[in-house]
Amino acid sequence: MDIHQFSQINPPQRLLMGPGPINADPRVLRAMSSQLLGQYDPAMTHYMNEVMALYRGIFRTENRWTLLIDGTSRAGIEAILLSAIRPGDRVLVPVFGRFGHLLCEIARRCRAEVHTIEVPWGEVFSPDQIEDAIKRVKPRLLLTVQGDTSTTMLQPLAELGVICRRYGVLFYTDATASLAGNALETDAWGLDAVSAGMQKCLGGPSGTSPVTLSPQMEEIIRKRKCVEEGIRTAAHQDGDDEMIYSNYFDLGMIMDYWGPERLNHHTEATSALFGARECARIILQEGLDNSIARHKLHGDALLKGIQGMGLETFGDLQHKMNNVLGVVIPQGVNGDQVRKLMLDDFGIEIGTSFGPLHGKVWRIGTMGYNARKDCVMQTLSALEAVLQHCGFGTPQGAALQAAWDRYGSEA
Ligand SMILES: *Cc1c(COP(=O)(O)O)cnc(C)c1O
Repeated sequence: MDIHQFSQINPPQRLLMGPGPINADPRVLRAMSSQLLGQYDPAMTHYMNEVMALYRGIFRTENRWTLLIDGTSRAGIEAILLSAIRPGDRVLVPVFGRFGHLLCEIARRCRAEVHTIEVPWGEVFSPDQIEDAIKRVKPRLLLTVQGDTSTTMLQPLAELGVICRRYGVLFYTDATASLAGNALETDAWGLDAVSAGMQKCLGGPSGTSPVTLSPQMEEIIRKRKCVEEGIRTAAHQDGDDEMIYSNYFDLGMIMDYWGPERLNHHTEATSALFGARECARIILQEGLDNSIARHKLHGDALLKGIQGMGLETFGDLQHKMNNVLGVVIPQGVNGDQVRKLMLDDFGIEIGTSFGPLHGKVWRIGTMGYNARKDCVMQTLSALEAVLQHCGFGTPQGAALQAAWDRYGSEA
């Protein structure tokens, strides 16, 4: 092996306009290059406490247990599901895209009895559909996805908390793709647990997953932990169902690490925590509502531009996330060739699609640091040029004018 073949890391300049990850805010990258601290240094525990306070603001909650799980977004999902689900528990998952299937898969690994309801991709559920399923299935937990990037749809959650309370159901949502770009009210909507990730509207690199747990969820998790010691020595005895089958994702242990006990668990991912702290600080300085409005503005401008180009969009626009748009690949156009030209000749990445939408839909994101006018205008002009080059003529300049019209005097 010749070590000289391995050059210093120097990634190409890209504008990441797909469904995530997106370019990290430079402020976040600067925060992440700070020197490390020992895990019990008072400066470090102070930063951990600040992170808890900042993310209460992002999740709109008073929940004491609002902290980071080290790992990508699915680490947060696994921590909550592994800690909350007892083997044999019935769970209900309304599936409207790929990430609903992920919740089913993880819940099955927790040995839950998984029940699903489904709508076609591009649609969401009404509260009545979910209430009917709850009445029928009688689940212990309702597992939802708020924004599913695979379909670009945003499931309305505001009315589900009341329904869950009525039937004694715990209410969880995966808000990875939606948080800080679309409204989410943890307390007002009666959510018992929410998890997220950094690489979408929060504007950071993947690697930490903010989660928040209601007092009721804490109680349920603590109850499982109490019998844990007994189970270790007498496996498959009474109470075996109470064991949490993970050490890394045992939220009881993680709470004891983040709480005043500071019981050693893992070594907090310090650089990632610095990054997550800066992401939250940036959004709360801007104002959470302003951040959501910014995602709406630039998402709308992109939509107008795409429509102005004469392209069709995917899914029910009434329930579209602010921060991702599905664009139907026009007849006769090779979707992968367009994406390659966008990347090679303009340095812009747009997304492909999974499952039933593969080869049929591009997904374009306007989120986090890239929810900006210049990013939208660059993406539209590059796409117009590439489509022209591929023989799909669009009325020249119409996309940009439609976007400018949407911006009007707002930006
Ligand atoms: C993007 C996305 C994720 C990503 O999970 P990672 O583990 O960070 O890759 C999870 N859930 C949803 C709804 C997403 O859109």
